[in-house]
Formats: sequence, C-alpha cells, structure tokens
Amino acid sequence: MKVLVINAGSSSLKYQFLDTSDGNVLAKGVCERIGEGEPAGSAARIQHKKNGVAYTENHPMSDHSEAMKIVIAYLTDSEKGVISSMDEIEAIGHRVVHGGPYFFESTLLTDEVFETLTKCVTFAPLHTPAHIMGIQGCLSVMPNTPEVLVFDTSFHQTMPEKAYMFGFSYDMYEKYSLRKYGAHGTSHRFVSIETAKALGRPIEETKIVTCHIGNGSSISAVKYGKCLDTSMGFTPLDGLLMGTRCGAVDASAVTFIMEKEGYTPEEMNDYMNKKCGLLGISGFSSDFRDIISAISSTEDTDEAKERKRRSGIALDMLAYEIQRYIGAYTAAMDGLDAISFAAGIAENNATLRRLVCSGLDWFGVKLDDDVNENGVHSPNPTLISAADSKVKVFVVPTNEELMIARDTEAIVKAL
Ligand code: AMP
Repeated sequence: MKVLVINAGSSSLKYQFLDTSDGNVLAKGVCERIGEGEPAGSAARIQHKKNGVAYTENHPMSDHSEAMKIVIAYLTDSEKGVISSMDEIEAIGHRVVHGGPYFFESTLLTDEVFETLTKCVTFAPLHTPAHIMGIQGCLSVMPNTPEVLVFDTSFHQTMPEKAYMFGFSYDMYEKYSLRKYGAHGTSHRFVSIETAKALGRPIEETKIVTCHIGNGSSISAVKYGKCLDTSMGFTPLDGLLMGTRCGAVDASAVTFIMEKEGYTPEEMNDYMNKKCGLLGISGFSSDFRDIISAISSTEDTDEAKERKRRSGIALDMLAYEIQRYIGAYTAAMDGLDAISFAAGIAENNATLRRLVCSGLDWFGVKLDDDVNENGVHSPNPTLISAADSKVKVFVVPTNEELMIARDTEAIVKAL
C-alpha cells in the first residue's frame, strides 16, 4: 500500500511517501516556516527529495492546508513527483506525540477520535495543536482518503499501575491524570519487533531492552511484546541525560534552582529542556559527534582540555545511566534475551555501545568488539554480541515512518 506519513509541527510539516510492500521511501520532504513572514506565510519553503535528488523552493504557505496542497503538487509533479494523481495515495498516517490516557493503539480518524484528540492538548501543548492543523490540512485537500493516528505514547499504555504511577498524592493522578506516559513508543515497538525477528523467536516469548539513544533518548523494557516500563515519564524530560534535557533529577533540586536563580516555572522548564544534558555538562555542544571529537582532541589549549574533560564526564554519565536502566529492567522482567541499540547516537557510535556493554558481563553480555567497531552498516539489525554471549545484542536502525505506514495499512485494509 502507498501511504503518506505526516509529522506536523507548529510551523513545519514533514512527509514521507512509502510503499509498505518493501518499505521503500518513494519521496520525502519538509515544509518549513509555515505561517511565518509578513504577509503571513511568505517566508515558507519546501525541501523535497526523490531518488536522492533534493529540490528546495520558496512557496508562500499561510497554514497547514496550503502546505498539504504544495506537498500534493510535488508528489504529482511530472519531474519531482512519483505519482500521476493524488488518488494513488491510498492512506495517510499521522505521527501524534501524545495520546494521553485515551489512546491505547493506532486509530482510524473519525469525528469522535478527532474530538478526543483535542483533549490531548493538555499533555502536549506544543505538539497537539500542530497535529490538529496537520490533520485538518489533509482533510481539506483529501477528504476521502482514510487517515490513521499513530501515537508515540500508545505502546506504553500496557505499563502496569506500579510502573506508571508517581509517588505524589493520589489526587494529583485523579485531578490531572499525572502519571508516566513514556515517549518514542513507535520506535520502541518497531525495534522490539525487529529484534524478535532477528532472534528468530515469537515476540510473545522474548524479554528485550530497547535503547533509543538520539537527541532525545529513552529505554524500554519490552516483555513478551508489551511495554512493561519505560524511562520517559509524564513528559519527554524524564529518564536519561539527553542532548539538551537533564533527564531524571531529584525533584527538590528543581525548586532549589528556581529559588537560587529566581526562575519562573516557565523559565525552569526552558532551562531543563534546552540548557542541560550533553550541552549543559560539556558546556559547548548538544551534538554527540562534537562530544566524541572533543574527547579525542589533542589540542593543547586550556579551553580544549576543559572541553575534553567535561565531554568525558557527559559520555560516562550517559553510558552509566543506560547500564543502570538495563540492570533495572532485567530485574523487572526477570530475565533478558536481547538488548537493542537504536537512533542517531546508539546506531552510529561503537564507543558508547562498548562502554554500556562492558559493565554488563555479569548479566551474560559479551560484545564481539570487531563487529561492534567495524561491522555495523546494514539497514537491517546487526548482531554485535559474541557467539557465546548469553544475551544477544543488536544494532537496529529504527524506522518510525515505516511503523506508522504499516499500522496505517493494517487499519485501512481491515475497513
Ligand atoms: P536522532 O535524534 O536519532 O536523530 O540522533 C541525533 C544524535 O545522533 C545527535 O547527537 C548526533 O550527534 C548523533 N549522531 C548522528 N550520527 C552520528 C555518528 N555518526 N556518530 C555519533 N553520533 C551521531
């Protein structure tokens, strides 16, 4: 099935047009700066890619409906496009960041579903209005094409109460639905499915820890194909140290900093989300490649030496935290068959994978150092553990768009 996957942000709209039969991406791109400029939308542009050829053009787009019209015009263009008419788009799959306590699985868009989605604004105030605009944009251009919503949180809805509740008073949960929801669920689901396939076992019989380590990072315990626990919480700030996010900290440290620095709640939120993590510890970059190159730098200036020292701390913290989660989740699942590394950092950096696994010998994890360093190139899962490793370790290139397209296909085919 040919599916258009949409990831709408407040002023952007990313798209991938996929064929689910082989996972092939026929075309993809992004509309940026939607609604920006004077007059409104005059600063907008589209970047479109087909067969590795990139096209960038300025186009006024005052809202997501106009952006969708331009996307369709590109997809059906005789030179830049891949289809002759928009009727060839069989379905649309939307990435939705937060499904709150309402959505347990991917869902066909109906009036009632749309109504419920509006309630999710509370949980993701920046993202949900953007998703709504993206959906409305698609509806305005292709009112008869089925649309499916795929939520980043729904995979984590199988967590038991003991995993998703916080230790606040129960009325906070009752009044505000304050609990752990997790994030990156589409990636954790994709990676766990691919890992079970690579193990050659039904997922219902496996215990897997999936490590999605990128600019945003989270780890999940996937027991028998279902999420038992995950490191992200009420928002994507929880859990691991990330590019610019601090991850889990002592809650009292939050009020302490607010008092000392005179931060408002909004300023504190901004600080924890944008100025901490790898950036805050290293003091110069949130990009993991910069952290690694600072560590290997032989530059003799005081500044370079300080960057090297602090980048070393950031790398050690990240590896240590990943180890702690793997240890905790092995205990929570009462066993472990496989660990999978996914997303920008973990798919690409052998040093981090080595540091994480070198502390896990006791769990029966033994890396094949040569494969870990030199053998990870495939778009398919790569086994990087030694033949006699009790727990298998994989690098699994994540593919959230393909997962969204597959869910969309399954739901639309069943109509
Ligand atoms: P993601 O959020 O999954 O796109 O991941 C982004 C992160 O992956 C950034 O911190 C990048 O520095 C990191 N990254 C991307 N490519 C590499 C690479 N070849 N080696 C190390 N880190 C990488």
